[in-house]
Amino acid sequence: MAKRLLVAAVPVTATNTHYITSPYGIRTITVGGVTSTGMHNGVDIVASCGADYIVAFESGIVTYARGDVTGNTPSEGNSVYIDHGNGYKTYYFHMKPRSVLVKAGDLVRRGQKIGYMGTTGNSTGVHLHFGIKLNNAWVDPEPYLTGLKNMGGERMTLTLRTLSQGMRGEDVKTLQQLLNAKINAGLVPDGKFGPLTHAALTRYQAANRLLADGKCGPATWSALLGV
Ligand SMILES: [Zn+2]
Repeated sequence: MAKRLLVAAVPVTATNTHYITSPYGIRTITVGGVTSTGMHNGVDIVASCGADYIVAFESGIVTYARGDVTGNTPSEGNSVYIDHGNGYKTYYFHMKPRSVLVKAGDLVRRGQKIGYMGTTGNSTGVHLHFGIKLNNAWVDPEPYLTGLKNMGGERMTLTLRTLSQGMRGEDVKTLQQLLNAKINAGLVPDGKFGPLTHAALTRYQAANRLLADGKCGPATWSALLGV
């Protein structure tokens, strides 16, 4: 496998020895004599030591984390998603079973260890598939790793509106994921604030001595995020 050293300005592994084995973009793969072309929506990274801790690329809120996958499904294997605000989210796939150190709702700092590289899901060797979404579209992570682009640094702000039934948006999705993590609400994180989200939120508020009005305002956000 051809690999290329990338000296990262902002590391995504603890020892910061990134080798890119597969860049972002259109790629052609031949498996068992069958050639297919598809979009690779992130970069594949290996560490010089073979495996390494993965760290949060920027500070943010963990919106999803799974560490119990041992086989090939789901294709992303064990994974972590982090919302950094400013429209940026990062994605870490194929992590080692039971190595994931964070859970949905956790606040993480840039450089904080979130788990260990592995080869779960659709993967043929130990590596990290690292993806970045900007305003819900995949973008090439490499300029962010090299420091050519950044996510806003200290100017980053997470916009948390007061949410109520009938509203839609990414922050509604974050709320649904947090309620699933906190009280096993079983909501579909579709970003639509409907009656089920309202009921789950009211239940969470009542259990946490908050005004159970079904509206997610500053006090409820603070409780959900632990800040
Ligand atoms: Zn990949």
